[in-house]
Formats: sequence, structure tokens, C-alpha cells
Amino acid sequence: MSTKKLAAFSFAILAALPASAQEKVLNLYSARHYQTDEALYTNFTKQTGIKINRIEAGENELLERLRNEGVHSPADVFLTVDAARLGKADELGLFAPVTSAYLMQRIPAQLRTDTWFSFSKRARVIVVNKASVNPADVQSYEALADPKLKGKVCVRSGAHPYNLSLGAALLAHHGAQKTEAWASGLVANFARAPKGGDTDQIKAVAAGECGVTIANSYYVARMLRSEKPDDKKVMEAVTIVWPNQKTTGAHINISGAGMLKTAPNKDSAVKFLEYLASDQAQVYFADGNNEWPVVAGVKTSNPGLQAMGDFKADTVKVGALAAKQADVQKIYDRAGWN
Ligand code: FE
Repeated sequence: MSTKKLAAFSFAILAALPASAQEKVLNLYSARHYQTDEALYTNFTKQTGIKINRIEAGENELLERLRNEGVHSPADVFLTVDAARLGKADELGLFAPVTSAYLMQRIPAQLRTDTWFSFSKRARVIVVNKASVNPADVQSYEALADPKLKGKVCVRSGAHPYNLSLGAALLAHHGAQKTEAWASGLVANFARAPKGGDTDQIKAVAAGECGVTIANSYYVARMLRSEKPDDKKVMEAVTIVWPNQKTTGAHINISGAGMLKTAPNKDSAVKFLEYLASDQAQVYFADGNNEWPVVAGVKTSNPGLQAMGDFKADTVKVGALAAKQADVQKIYDRAGWN
């Protein structure tokens, strides 16, 4: 075959090939930045031949970028943590509905919506200084508002998504009036004005600056796995209480993702979401931040999580948590939880 003929022949083949045989890509906007997530992406490409172009940044930055890019956005999937943030993206109309029998079957109904899916779970737990607070007195979130804990409670800002989602769960269980009374009681018990993140609160509890706090489980697991002498000392001074074990269960939040409405590579996007629900990806995804898989029966071997033991989880739907953020913010504002 002459060169000229060969060229024409190749062109004919290319034109005849379906799009799927051309280079497939997935453009991922991710607010997660854990080292073990690398293995996740490499594996996906190995399994599917789909190359991942990834942009990592803070949640707000990525949301802003998506809004600015509008219909021209190259992004296929938005990956972030907390139902509050996924809910916000959904409210902005960024996500497209995804129909996938595999995702429906793998991910429990309370951990998905029509547009976005949870891929790992975290719990909000109670951390107690054994020397200053009796763990028996702080067995539930509700108990933290009891006047007997006056001057004992440290907690991060009420405006933070973690606390807004917790409030949304309480709102779902108790209604607005009781939730506001709870928030007011909590604020009345503050040892100090909210400052810092969950780990700062755990350290303040260990140091005796306060007696009790609420923190996400992965911060606790991270400290439990830490080899640093300072961290070990912190964890020796505190004890972990699984909240609401006799009632509604510990509040659960998630990390999750959704396909964008403007996704140029919708096939790749659905394949990626499905991949995140596979056994192997579930382990990487959850372990990467000391979280639990969402798919039943997937086993992790994380010593930090194992040390924390089993617990009863709240089953409020993540979609309901996301939908109530604005209401909760108003309740917290009135209660003075800034
Ligand atoms: Fe966090």
C-alpha cells in the first residue's frame, strides 16, 4: 500500500470507529487531597483506559470555578466532602441525574440522592476529658446542652458544614423548636468562643481547657494512629463516646460525588462513579481519610477505626441533611452559635 493510500485508509478507519475507541478522558474536580487517592485514579485508568485530568482545590474555589465556567466547563465529576457541600452544588443546579443500576444496588438508599452519591462515611463523635466530665453524662448530642455541663463544652463554629449537617439531623428528629433550644443550651455551656477545627477541640479537651467536644471520627482515628508523642498524650487524656446509641444513632456524614450537568464525557463520569463503588475503590477511598466504606460488607483493616469499635449509625437520608442547611444556619444564628 502506498503512503497516500495508507493515509486515506487510516482516515477511513478513524472515521468509522465509534467515539469510545478514541482517547477517553475524565475531567475531575476534586476537593479531596489524600495520598491514597492516587492509587484510586491510577487503578481506574488501568481498568477502563480512561485518563483522568484532575483539578484539586478547596470546595468553595471549585464551586466558584464551576459557576464561572458555566456551560463551557470541562468538568465531568465534582468530588467533595460533607452533604452540606454536595447539597450546595446540587442547589446551584450543577449536577445531572445519574441512572445506574450498579450504584443503586451498591449504595444504601439513605446515602444517595438522584444526583449525587456518597462513597465514604464519617461519624460525629463525642470526645471527653475523663478527669473533668463523666462520660455517662455525655452519651448524646442532646446531653451536651444540659446546664450541668456549663463551661465545659468546646466546639468549632456553627457555620461550619459539619455542625450544620449535625443540626440538620437533629432538626429531622426533633423539629425546629427543640433544635433551637438545644443550640441555645449548647452555646450556654461553651467554655470559650468557637475557634479552630475539630482537632483543635480534641487538643483543648485533652489539655483541660474544656471537658467535652464533638469531632469527626477521622480526626480521632488519625490521632489514634499517630506515632507522635504529643498526639499519644492527647489520646490518653480523652475517651470517645459513640453518641445516641440508645436513640437515633451517631450522626453520619459523607464524602461523595456527582456528575455535572455540563459534563462533556458523561460515559466516563458514570463509569468513574461506578468504579468508586467497587470493592477495591471503596477500601482506598475510605481508608484514604480514615473513613468507612458505604458499600455493605467491604472490609477495611484500619487500626484507628478498629480501635474505635462498632456503633449504631443514624439513618437520616443525606439528601435531607443537605436540604436543611439554611434552616439550621438561621437556628444557630438565633442561638448565637457563630
Ligand atoms: Fe474535615
